[in-house]
Amino acid sequence: MTTISSALQAVAERIALAATASARDPRTIALLAVSKTWPAEAVRDAFQAGQTRFGESYLQEALEKMNRLADLPLEWHFIGPVQSNKTRPIAEHFNWVHSVDRAKIADRLSQARPATLPPLDVCLQVNVSGEASKSGATPTDVPSLARHIAGLPRLRLRGLMAIPRPTLVVEEQRAQFAAVRSLFDDLNAQGLTLDTLSMGMSQDLEAAVAEGATMVRVGSAIFGARPSADMQ
Ligand SMILES: *Cc1c(COP(=O)(O)O)cnc(C)c1O
Repeated sequence: MTTISSALQAVAERIALAATASARDPRTIALLAVSKTWPAEAVRDAFQAGQTRFGESYLQEALEKMNRLADLPLEWHFIGPVQSNKTRPIAEHFNWVHSVDRAKIADRLSQARPATLPPLDVCLQVNVSGEASKSGATPTDVPSLARHIAGLPRLRLRGLMAIPRPTLVVEEQRAQFAAVRSLFDDLNAQGLTLDTLSMGMSQDLEAAVAEGATMVRVGSAIFGARPSADMQ
């Protein structure tokens, strides 16, 4: 077994344990393998071990990888900050965008999504930690922004994404994920039909699963430590 395939298995076991501890079915939690900064060959190894969903943060790097891996049926998720001059290639090449945090970006993605493809699956990124440096809509802006996105013809609003303030204190991890979950429940109570809570990474996936994550985004626990901190 390759290192990547045994790491994928270990992450699947962590998800399963966390799910069982919260009386959840592990099959309701999808694993997004975050392959940013890793070469196409690492993605190919992961695919051979059964992984099909991959997350990327840098457009140019992602497009090159997609090219090299065009022979594989992969699902690509854009998880980095979206610059407005990059919305067209993102809308043309990705299956999902997790990092939509303003109306202008949503409008441009919807306009650029080719008619030959299904609507682009998107998550609204919310900044629950209140850190000014972080991307994401403020919780107060989430309801109106979510309704706006849900009304766009070429986008399909699937749910919320969050990158909480990193902490090793499990209670603090859980409190931040619970805040995202509560926003998500409110939106569904207001009539939206969201099915995706994109939260939890290598360090805090257990807390995210305990608070209702349906998709965890895991990089370093699968591929190894990245050369530099590059979290947005
Ligand atoms: C890099 C990144 C991840 C993965 O982080 P790890 O700690 O390596 O698991 C998840 N989500 C986003 C948005 C990222 O940028």
